[in-house]
Amino acid sequence: MNSKIVLVVLDGLGDRPIVALNGLTPLESARTPHLSLLAEKAECGLLDAIGVGVRPTSDVAILNMLGYLPEKYYSGRGPLEALGTGLSLKEGDVCFRVNFATVDSQLKVVDRRAGRISDCSVFEKELNGIEVEGVKFVLKAGLGHRAALVMRGIELSPSVSEIDSHAAGKKVPEAKPLSQEPAAKRAASFLNEYLKKARVVLKKHKHNKERQKQKLPPANYLLVRGAGTPPKLPSFEEKYGLKSACVAAEGLYKGVARAAGMHVIPLNGATGKSDSDLLAKVVAVKKNIPNYDFLLLHVKATDNFGHDGDFVGKRNFIERVDGALKELVGLHHAVVVVTGDHSTPCEMRDHSGDPVPIMFSGDGLRKDNVKKFGERECAKGIVGRISGKDVMPEALNLAGRAPLFGS
Ligand code: ZN
Ligand code: ZN
Repeated sequence: MNSKIVLVVLDGLGDRPIVALNGLTPLESARTPHLSLLAEKAECGLLDAIGVGVRPTSDVAILNMLGYLPEKYYSGRGPLEALGTGLSLKEGDVCFRVNFATVDSQLKVVDRRAGRISDCSVFEKELNGIEVEGVKFVLKAGLGHRAALVMRGIELSPSVSEIDSHAAGKKVPEAKPLSQEPAAKRAASFLNEYLKKARVVLKKHKHNKERQKQKLPPANYLLVRGAGTPPKLPSFEEKYGLKSACVAAEGLYKGVARAAGMHVIPLNGATGKSDSDLLAKVVAVKKNIPNYDFLLLHVKATDNFGHDGDFVGKRNFIERVDGALKELVGLHHAVVVVTGDHSTPCEMRDHSGDPVPIMFSGDGLRKDNVKKFGERECAKGIVGRISGKDVMPEALNLAGRAPLFGS
């Protein structure tokens, strides 16, 4: 019996005890009746997306959880973000992730996200297609202040330093080659040239003049990082024989899904922020279960609350997620996997190496005694402590889709 697989990844879900939440984590203190209903027929445990004590970024964490060993398949964050904006990549492209930012006249960062500007596609027309010595610069806006930049045309290397000071008040550095190869020197110098041109364009752009009139920080510079080349992943269909699709708002997860040959289901109202229309996302997953074998659902804002140190916000948002997950309760012929890609403890405001809870929920599984989905409850479950690379084999096994090993 082949069941469908739904993998729900709540970004940065795991946390540590918060004194103000009576020593509970945001997930433990949240009211989560639907997660509890899923847990009632689930095998639970803990997951280290990469390994014990490793603090992963989201890109390598989700690649490993989908069975793509980062050591072999990770070629940088930039190309994944670029794919997530919908760009098609070509062999030889060098790709970056970009923040539209605000700098002062000395190139010191005023705001790394240009006041969390809501839409940068208004700048696309002027910044996309600029050429520097035979290299074409392709720019595509993503969500909010984010965009992707691709250098295309001649032999270039992604071995260039990032153009980001990572802090307000610090001057943005120039790109430098990180190796002696001519292709790296070319890439750094052409990128610096492009950024100079982009700065001129942004300075006089009518949309920025409009922002200044409204006393909003102008989006007058591009912070560029995450250099990489297009990933070469075997598709999910080749790898597992699964017809797959993804529901996500954030560029990175959409990019990973596209790199893995998944169909990215278009959505209105999913923003990757806390105002995201969660119910629409879960309903989109549910509606598509008949059409696909594997569905990946990603929710981003749990991680944002962790980075902001907002544990009440994180707990309340988890309750909203739980409300939407009612749509996945009571499914038959489906294994619903709920987990996170890493912990983002509110008190650390960053990713930690703490494992995240995971549950595999479905009919006829060896359900354990875990009643509430949470960091410490799931530690009592029968799955034990597994690593990212175990997620797909276990999901395939429970869904009756694992190939027989041996002869
Ligand atoms: Zn993440
Ligand atoms: Zn994060």
